[in-house]
Amino acid sequence: MQVFKFGGTSVGTPERMKNVCKLITEDGTPKIVVLSAMSGTTNSLVEIADYVRKGNPEGAGSTITCLRGKYREHIPQLYATEEVRQATRKLIDDIFLDIHDLCNMKFSESIEKEILSKGEIISTNMITNYLKEQQVKAILIPALDYMKVDKNGEPDMHYIREHLQRLLNANPGYDVYITQGFICRNASGQVDNLQRGGSDYTATLIGASVRAEEVQIWTDIDGMHNNDPRFVVGTSPVRQLNFEESAELAYFGAKILHPTCIQPARITGVPVRLKNTMDPHAPGTIINNEMQEGTIKAVAAKDNITAVKIVSSRMLLASGFLCKVFSIFDKYKTPIDMITTSEVGVSVTIDKTSRLAAIVERLKKIGTVQVDPDMCIICVVGDLRSENTGFETIATDALRDIPLRMISYGGSNHNISFLVSMSDKQRALQALQDNLFAKK
Ligand code: ADP
Ligand code: ASP
Ligand code: MG
Repeated sequence: MQVFKFGGTSVGTPERMKNVCKLITEDGTPKIVVLSAMSGTTNSLVEIADYVRKGNPEGAGSTITCLRGKYREHIPQLYATEEVRQATRKLIDDIFLDIHDLCNMKFSESIEKEILSKGEIISTNMITNYLKEQQVKAILIPALDYMKVDKNGEPDMHYIREHLQRLLNANPGYDVYITQGFICRNASGQVDNLQRGGSDYTATLIGASVRAEEVQIWTDIDGMHNNDPRFVVGTSPVRQLNFEESAELAYFGAKILHPTCIQPARITGVPVRLKNTMDPHAPGTIINNEMQEGTIKAVAAKDNITAVKIVSSRMLLASGFLCKVFSIFDKYKTPIDMITTSEVGVSVTIDKTSRLAAIVERLKKIGTVQVDPDMCIICVVGDLRSENTGFETIATDALRDIPLRMISYGGSNHNISFLVSMSDKQRALQALQDNLFAKK
């Protein structure tokens, strides 16, 4: 079985939806197809939920009307028969009525998540109806019936595997199994999600659960580029990445992949292929177990990072100092990304700052604390084992004109990270591009 995932842009118009249906049916092999919401929809749903949070039902109502209007326009463009048009119009109207009802309830996080879930519910119903109208043997498998996270927000692999397999076994003989990306249930059974961009994660969780031959993530670009094409001129696609390399790039900001979506594929060894819906014959990027030795593959950047420095004369020779520092971050459930240490202090970075004030209060009991907001982690990824001399020098040299707040190397064999100010991000990325790749 293969798993194909199509992102928001790939299903962003009726024309593109038709193109997706062509791509999934042309080779005649059965597939599980994970779909995002049509592009822009989740953002509109976030806006609707925000109006509800602020106690402004009129604001929510007018955004709903505008969004529903767009969907109504899609219907005659997508379906050929009046019968399917009517059935789909009714289905979409019912979903928007649900959204209205949710907006009239007292706001809670769980109401917000239900509202956010509707984009994927609409897109999957639309495409399933289109495939059926085209006489394709297609069925919709609701993600809310098998996709689940545990009380820590981590995927409940056992539950997912068991329930998905049961649903597939109960519905044999279909060519296309459509399902929603992004949405899931939490440990209490309420509607939840896998965070923004989470449809990639749905795809690899399914791939790992059914031990797929391959997971294909179809998007709007020809695979993973060697730098962020939104900020850097002259990027080019990387044809192959190791699981570790791609996991680092995803975690450190390569938006093409959800930050943790490589983990399930890595654990089960299921290859992931990144493909371009706008140019299906382009080779894209394959992510697998192979390691191309002696190459730097790509650069990524993670924004909105805060650095915290703790300096203590008592750190000198004091065992347990780092343990105290980490336990404070742990107590406030705040993950640390980068760490650098010296004889007198330690610097760490975090991207979750909701508990920062409490953390700083506690840290002040063990040292002098300095907080630097608006930083950015720049991560250079490739075969960076220490035997591969020289690569770290090229990277550091490229950044010679940029103030570097932290440098981290040796934490894995695949990564060297720099902490710079957000205002230097673009310059730093371009300098790395020009020095690491463009001269080849
Ligand atoms: P989808 O909606 O299909 O999930 P996304 O917008 O989440 O698509 O991801 C694709 C986008 O990721 C590209 O259009 C590109 O702008 C951005 N991107 C950021 N970094 C990279 C990179 N290193 N390689 C390719 N694309 C990247
Ligand atoms: N629709 C969701 C989002 O916009 C999930 C996804 O597209 O992967 O974040
Ligand atoms: Mg995405």
